[in-house]
Amino acid sequence: MFLAMRGEAPQVASEGTPRAVSRGAPRVVVVGGGIGGVAVANGLARRGGFQVTLVSDNPYHVYQPGFLTVPFGQVKPDSLTRSLDRALHREVRVLPVAAVDLDPESGVVLLKDRTTVAYDWLVLAPGAAYDLSLVKGFEGGAHHFYSLEAGLELMSALRSFSGGDVVLGLTTVPFKCPVAPLQFVALLDDFLRRRRLGGRYRLHFLTPYPQLLGNKSVCEAYVPVLARRGVEIRTGFTVEAVDRRRRRVIAQEGDECPYDLLILVPPHRGTKFVREAGLGDRNGWIPTERDTLKVVGKPHLYALGDATDLPVSKTGASAHFQAEVVARNLAAEAAGAAPPYEYSGRVLCLSEVGGGRATMVSYDYDWPPMPPPPHRVLHLARSLLDAAYWRLIPTGLSPLHGLKRRRKVAGRSWW
Ligand SMILES: Cc1cc2nc3c(=O)[nH]c(=O)nc-3n(C[C@H](O)[C@H](O)[C@H](O)COP(=O)(O)OP(=O)(O)OC[C@H]3O[C@@H](n4cnc5c(N)ncnc54)[C@H](O)[C@@H]3O)c2cc1C
Repeated sequence: MFLAMRGEAPQVASEGTPRAVSRGAPRVVVVGGGIGGVAVANGLARRGGFQVTLVSDNPYHVYQPGFLTVPFGQVKPDSLTRSLDRALHREVRVLPVAAVDLDPESGVVLLKDRTTVAYDWLVLAPGAAYDLSLVKGFEGGAHHFYSLEAGLELMSALRSFSGGDVVLGLTTVPFKCPVAPLQFVALLDDFLRRRRLGGRYRLHFLTPYPQLLGNKSVCEAYVPVLARRGVEIRTGFTVEAVDRRRRRVIAQEGDECPYDLLILVPPHRGTKFVREAGLGDRNGWIPTERDTLKVVGKPHLYALGDATDLPVSKTGASAHFQAEVVARNLAAEAAGAAPPYEYSGRVLCLSEVGGGRATMVSYDYDWPPMPPPPHRVLHLARSLLDAAYWRLIPTGLSPLHGLKRRRKVAGRSWW
């Protein structure tokens, strides 16, 4: 398909980092070197019997949950990234170049350097993209903490902040880690108090939902946390534009909110690759079967993580749990068996409430979240997970699982 569209034939087979591959074994190509892609590639390489190639537009694997505390100067940026060569099993071949298109009929992915890579099975894990242009005035008007660079810029802004209205707002839904903005407000309040600015600032939280977030029990856990800190919550506020001159956020509903420092969650959508390859829905999310994690209507394509339209929140934990299902089912399929496992819908997030305490948001397709009262032990568990990340998660060696043997369950969406 894409070969004809582009008029000239691409060269075959990128070389990438030389790695040993077993000849004649099924070829699995993984697109994306984030939590989902790396865990699938490592899971398959550890099993053996596959030629695994990972294609990534970034030669580094990035631990994004660490972005949360970058603006407070609590984390060394270097500790959040590791080269893919180090994060991947030695049997995985890395192609550090973007995928730009694919032809599912002939089983070929086209890369940005105009080479191609052929697959028997393709695993799509390119994550989500940010599109700041969806909110007029975002660029140059608002800060965010959803990338390392933006987090460092916000750190400078927070260091020179001397008081006034700090506004934090959600924009489009879905977005990564739905509790991240709630955690951020609580940690921001702690940070500003440590800077002895108490009494000189007011915190405001803008949400398009009729309540704090989409899920009722998460709201019940966080509304008291924010109330105790005096955060004003403005519901039904769908951010449309930022008026930098008047320092006001403008809502679709016609409302306005003045600010001195503005922090917005960047609007999320599917990646350029997914949209341009015609794999996504109208927002660029890949239609994915919620139990098998196959791309709808494409038996040789799996998808996982933030890139999908799965009815669970976009978190590293869910991508990690999904990776295990994909790796196990792919191994069974390659051996000629039916895929034996389903993704349970499991999501797990240790979520900070500030003051050295955390709660836990854990749910699956059958069980809604019921966050326990905030506790120091849960904060400690989060700190331990952050510290142990590189040993547990990319390797796929975490003792936590999100799979079940195949059976039918009723569908429900929690976000
Ligand atoms: C501030 C913040 C806080 C968070 N907190 C938590 C938390 O506490 N707990 C939690 O579980 N999750 C958290 N998350 C969410 C978590 O980081 C993501 O859900 C997770 O990284 C998703 O994994 P993924 O593999 O689907 O995508 P990603 O990790 O984003 O990886 C996608 C990869 O694909 C690559 N790629 C993109 N396009 C192409 C292309 N065309 N060709 C080749 N490669 C491509 C990208 O460079 C990237 O390496 C947080 C995220 C943020 C931003």
